[in-house]
Amino acid sequence: MTTIAVIGLGNMGGPMAQNLVKAGHAVTGFDLSPAAIEEARAGGVAIARSVAEAVKGAEAIVTMLPAGKHVRAVWAEIVGIAGKGTLLIDSSTIDVESARAVHAQAEAAGLVPVDAPVSGGVGGAKAATLTFMCGGADAAFNRAKPLLEAMGRKIVHCGGAGAGQAAKICNNMILGISMIAVGEAFVLAEKLGLSHQALFDVASTSSGQCWSLTTYCPVPGPVPTSPANNGYKPGFATALMLKDLKLSQDAAAAAGATTPMGALATQLYGLHAAWGEGGADFSGIIELIRGKSD
Ligand code: NAD
Repeated sequence: MTTIAVIGLGNMGGPMAQNLVKAGHAVTGFDLSPAAIEEARAGGVAIARSVAEAVKGAEAIVTMLPAGKHVRAVWAEIVGIAGKGTLLIDSSTIDVESARAVHAQAEAAGLVPVDAPVSGGVGGAKAATLTFMCGGADAAFNRAKPLLEAMGRKIVHCGGAGAGQAAKICNNMILGISMIAVGEAFVLAEKLGLSHQALFDVASTSSGQCWSLTTYCPVPGPVPTSPANNGYKPGFATALMLKDLKLSQDAAAAAGATTPMGALATQLYGLHAAWGEGGADFSGIIELIRGKSD
């Protein structure tokens, strides 16, 4: 049993904290939102009144916050109060620069940092089937792994500080671009009088095969579990895809990488969100493409 503090008990952090409780750990959480607090409390998480109270005596701390600025603020508070040797895991999706900055700050204070963003969404957080992409020293990763296994199914050590965030944004850039490619193909098929099922049957077993097609098909029918069958709700929100694509473009600019398709995808999801679809699943981008083709 490990004494763990979880800061950020939202859609992802709440169920993750509850899975740590189910695995037999002593978990204390803190969030600014009364609704998030109540839900976590109902799931067996002890609730603290502040970050400082939550992390007091914790052997490990997990943060699951909206963006880099929140992580920078919360980690700045933690490094001043956590005991030396405390394991510090950030599972938020944030910019690589912030991830590296908080790693350095934590290490300088004698703490043991790991960036461990996730894929798998709210469903994966609830079912403890998340994939964790980790960055940090070998010893830090080895300490974090058993705790992450209580919340996920696949735990990958990607490299040093910030490598987990780098893997996350590269993966999601592939996903955002490939969903647009699949959407364009279905819209072209519609114009050519080719049925959705016929295109699916061919492309899903041919060289056009990809996750956006075979697991998350953006038209209703071929893959009954994809959000397209339910009006693009729920799923992975367009706003979150846009956030990750913006992070990829910021990282590309800082690192001097050329990512023209990533840049275009960022613009298209931005347009989709601006037209009121930020809360809808990102595969609904096909509706924007179809609209442009009419
Ligand atoms: P969320 O908004 O539901 O939860 C974030 C929580 O952080 C909120 O409850 C908020 O009150 C709390 N918070 C903010 N500042 C705080 C502070 N200073 N102290 C304590 N609590 C604070 O967001 P989410 O969907 O849980 O996402 C969390 C992170 O996970 C984000 O970085 C997101 O990009 C990433 N992520 C989300 C998904 C998803 O499908 N929702 C999937 C993968 C990754």
